[in-house]
Amino acid sequence: MNTQNQQDYLIRATAADGMIRAFAATTRQTVETARQIHDLSPIAAAALGRLLTAAQMMGSDMKGKDDLLTIRINCDGPIGGLLVTADPHGHAKGYVNNPSVMLPPNSKGKLDVGGALDLGVLSVIRDIGLKEPYIGQTILVTGEIAEDLTYYFATSEQIPSTVALGVLMNRDNTVRQAGGFLIQLMPGASDEIIDSLEAKISTIDSITSMLDKNMTPEDILQFVLGEFGLIINDRTDCSYSCDCTRERVAKALLSIGRTDLEDLIREGKDVEMQCHFCSRKYQFTPGEIREMLDRA
Ligand code: ZN
Repeated sequence: MNTQNQQDYLIRATAADGMIRAFAATTRQTVETARQIHDLSPIAAAALGRLLTAAQMMGSDMKGKDDLLTIRINCDGPIGGLLVTADPHGHAKGYVNNPSVMLPPNSKGKLDVGGALDLGVLSVIRDIGLKEPYIGQTILVTGEIAEDLTYYFATSEQIPSTVALGVLMNRDNTVRQAGGFLIQLMPGASDEIIDSLEAKISTIDSITSMLDKNMTPEDILQFVLGEFGLIINDRTDCSYSCDCTRERVAKALLSIGRTDLEDLIREGKDVEMQCHFCSRKYQFTPGEIREMLDRA
């Protein structure tokens, strides 16, 4: 079966009479788009792809249509840091500070995402239209991202969770498979449910090998949670998508300050601004910058 052009999507589900909540996603197109936009090395594609996948699943859990989820990782490793945002409609975008990071494989022969991130802090920012966004933070425990988010949910949100995220690359460094799942226990889940879920999860294959067997998000949750009475509640298409506009980029340009902008006008050259998320370029002439300053 050719899955190369399959639309990315995620599903949300419940099991064990609502004591378990679950999400699963297939995100190959999202991660391949990110790879092409940012010319990502395989490790950078794996790291950003895992984070984009997590953000799409976590974003789909927000209630308001204008809510925005941001996950930021500040770290000491050679990748230098990552940032992704996602809305509740399956749209995500992001970037890494060093897209060309390369490292030898780790001890398991896999892409060394943990080595690329090293020590750092993970922040989850939920802007749900209140005066201040809700911010939760934890340290990175492995830098492999899924484990770090598991730790984040346990410590910052007190939700016992299992997070699996994976990106598998082709030999030509394009993205072969990407996706993940997130399973959470609700307060009141019995020890019996917890023990049998843990036992089940300890037996499953990696997310990338399940995806590479052409298992769909539905198949994956059925496999993990089928014995708990899985109910799939909804399905959302997801994609890499940037909503930047000339107006927003102009605002960012203004934020560099009047003195510096006056200097740019004096130099008489066009100023080019590039969107961090999609690499789209926006040109501003000295006359346009003058006008913006006069209006500001
Ligand atoms: Zn953009």
